[in-house]
Amino acid sequence: MKHRIVVLGAGYSGGLAAGRLARRLHPADTEITLVNAEPDFVERVRLHQLAAGQELKHRPLQEIYAGTGVNVRRARVTALDVDRRIVMLLDEHGPGEISYDTLVYALGSTAADHGVRGGAEHAVDIAGRQSALRLRERLGDLEPGGTVLIVGGGLTGIEASAEIAESRPDLRVSIATRGAFGDWLSDKARQHLREVFERLGIAVHESVDVTRVDATGVTTTAGETIPAGITVWANGFGVHHIAAASTLEVGATGRIVVDGAMRSVSHPDVYAIGDAALAEGAGGKPLRMSCASGEPMGQRAADAIIAQLTGRALPESTIGYHLQCISLGRRDGIVQFVTPDDRARPSIIKGPLAARVKEIICRGAAWVVAHPTLMIPGRRRHLAAPGKVATLTA
Ligand SMILES: Cc1cc2nc3c(=O)[nH]c(=O)nc-3n(C[C@H](O)[C@H](O)[C@H](O)COP(=O)(O)OP(=O)(O)OC[C@H]3O[C@@H](n4cnc5c(N)ncnc54)[C@H](O)[C@@H]3O)c2cc1C
Repeated sequence: MKHRIVVLGAGYSGGLAAGRLARRLHPADTEITLVNAEPDFVERVRLHQLAAGQELKHRPLQEIYAGTGVNVRRARVTALDVDRRIVMLLDEHGPGEISYDTLVYALGSTAADHGVRGGAEHAVDIAGRQSALRLRERLGDLEPGGTVLIVGGGLTGIEASAEIAESRPDLRVSIATRGAFGDWLSDKARQHLREVFERLGIAVHESVDVTRVDATGVTTTAGETIPAGITVWANGFGVHHIAAASTLEVGATGRIVVDGAMRSVSHPDVYAIGDAALAEGAGGKPLRMSCASGEPMGQRAADAIIAQLTGRALPESTIGYHLQCISLGRRDGIVQFVTPDDRARPSIIKGPLAARVKEIICRGAAWVVAHPTLMIPGRRRHLAAPGKVATLTA
């Protein structure tokens, strides 16, 4: 009987892991199934562009994985029974289930509403394609002079504000941040950020904690109101409740706790990667929810599974960062150099060159998912005899 590997989620991390597994494991003794709710690979890092009216490249999963040995199954994961090794699914035919020997959990994240009153009813987020399309529609309906408030001063909030302001100069765009604007960036990056926001006419509300959202704007802890025809919620990501509802060990926010090999600390036949996993990076800090973490995590998990099943050792390694790339519309940006544990260094690239670097990185990140078995060295390997399965030490 073949070893059944089921990968849940065909985003940056899961899509990459499935391709790498198919490229390195022999199809005679492994069966790889990739389950995804949507029919295509969605470039989440470009969803602010989609919301602002741009089109994203259509990348059907069936085409991406044709001839690779990965079976693509379009279905929504509804629950896990990790003690019986079963995943519960819902597809066009109704509820079903799939069994596995090794599971890779890569279901990504959604917008975190932090329980703010009115957020679910009145705000719109850009964490997923459907919500980004809803925002696009609402922006299309907004008359010149209309107001848009982006809540959240992190990378997603900054990129969304700049993209909307650039594409709709007739709107009044503002951003609300809990701390000081861009406070994690270097002095040079902060200065450039302020200059670009001034040029784009984006008002910045700093040290603001939003407690309520309604149809006309938001209310803050200080009792202040900020009017907005559209409130965009970009206040961090939260994970689906599927993992927390199982017996997997999860952290406080529901991310699956994994070791250096991306292996669940409670269930060794489950690997978790991308936004859904709580993994340590350089300096012992948790890896940030990002494509920049998700792809190396996908690679690491695939290599660990291959090493374990083929009886080889998994080399020690730690995932760290080099850059944070921020788009500020289509023609400007910031590339912030960072330490491996993600702290800003003094140097940056800014302006059109930074926009270009960011574009190349986004294209590269999508390319590796869209060409899942290319550029992966080594030959396909057979599984080791049961007694020879390696013990992972990472
Ligand atoms: C607007 C925006 C801009 C961003 N910019 C950057 C950036 O510049 N740099 C960066 O590093 N990161 C950025 N990110 C974050 C980055 O997109 C995510 O961290 C990354 O996509 C996480 O990868 P993943 O593989 O964990 O999940 P995803 O890429 O989200 O993939 C998860 C997959 O699982 C599927 N799925 C979800 N639930 C189910 C279910 N129940 N059943 C079946 N399938 C399901 C989804 O359809 C999806 O295909 C940005 C995010 C957004 C929203």
